[in-house]
Amino acid sequence: MKFGTKVIHAGVHADEATGAIMTPIYQTSTYVQEGIGKHKGYQYSRTSNPTRNALENNIAALENGRFGACFGSGLAAIDCLIKMLEPGDEVISTNDLYGGTYRIFNSIFAKYGIQFHFVGMDDVSKIESHINERTKLIWVETPTNPMMNVIDIAAIAKMIEGKQIMLGVDNTFATPYLQRPLDLGADIVMHSATKYLGGHSDVVMGVLVTADKTIADEMYRIQNSSGAICGPQDAFLVLRGIKTLHLRMQRHCENGRKIAEFLSAHPKVDKVYWPGLPEHPNHEVAKRQMDDFGGMISFSLKGNQLSDAMKVVEKLNVFSLAESLGGVESLAGHPATMTHAAIPKAEREKIGVVDSLIRLSVGIEDAEDLIADLNQTLS
Ligand SMILES: *Cc1c(COP(=O)(O)O)cnc(C)c1O
Repeated sequence: MKFGTKVIHAGVHADEATGAIMTPIYQTSTYVQEGIGKHKGYQYSRTSNPTRNALENNIAALENGRFGACFGSGLAAIDCLIKMLEPGDEVISTNDLYGGTYRIFNSIFAKYGIQFHFVGMDDVSKIESHINERTKLIWVETPTNPMMNVIDIAAIAKMIEGKQIMLGVDNTFATPYLQRPLDLGADIVMHSATKYLGGHSDVVMGVLVTADKTIADEMYRIQNSSGAICGPQDAFLVLRGIKTLHLRMQRHCENGRKIAEFLSAHPKVDKVYWPGLPEHPNHEVAKRQMDDFGGMISFSLKGNQLSDAMKVVEKLNVFSLAESLGGVESLAGHPATMTHAAIPKAEREKIGVVDSLIRLSVGIEDAEDLIADLNQTLS
């Protein structure tokens, strides 16, 4: 099945009891058993629930994996993944990383004896010196947030071939429409389904997908033991969101290109970070591993004044000032005071998060209106 067919049909089937074409919301905690040990495969909804299972199978198919697990948030999915490790194990992680991921690594799991190394991975060779016999996971986020660096997943997979090291990829920004890490050699893929998969800014959810039975057994054991599952209503909403993922992503990419080109030509704009621009430092890797370049764009202003960035962001009308991304509506954010405020100024400027940097999550409105909005606020 091709992608646009899978988003609609993979993992879902008409309800056996009624024929309902849409997966029912099985809002139930438990299931009546016909006799001791005789049941229809469902015993308790922390362990499994038909609405959640439909979504788990659907996302597994989109990522070309075999096993999916859904959680109450993206961070709950990461929590499950790191619980596969033991005290003393080491993780090598992207340095330019979602702030919440950094927080759970360093302020939760570090105290259980897991050691994290944060490395700039757009040059893959920098990873090698951190690998030792305790390294158990390489954690890649690509494109990165907010600098849109692109990391070569296949090159990392090749580097650790034959070693007992898991390669995990946070595929939230790209979605399986643009990038399928398991096909590139990753062992496990994670999503914040809160973003593009849900797509309508109405759910918080996380996902893990793998094709490896041993990893899957651990994933389901931890999902059931720690219990950070999502509810059936949220599973239904994400199932519904995914049915238009391919259409939404197509428009996110088209609008992303138009806005990146508009910003690149604007006299008040200094730098534009979008992997689809030929001058993007990782454009060649992006072309190889992504099918298109998405709707996430960051840009900085000439003169680099915080006050200018504030004015630009506050005068937007169609774009809303908000955290998060990946919804149908366009959002603008200011990393230096919002998502990356906790990082000292000198540190964040080293990775490019300057005071005038603005991050856009380009939605699926008409591009003309989005460009007019940016044009009026920039002038
Ligand atoms: C939002 C986000 C997360 C965390 O997901 P939640 O659903 O908010 O817990 C992780 N990684 C990336 C790239 C994100 O954008």
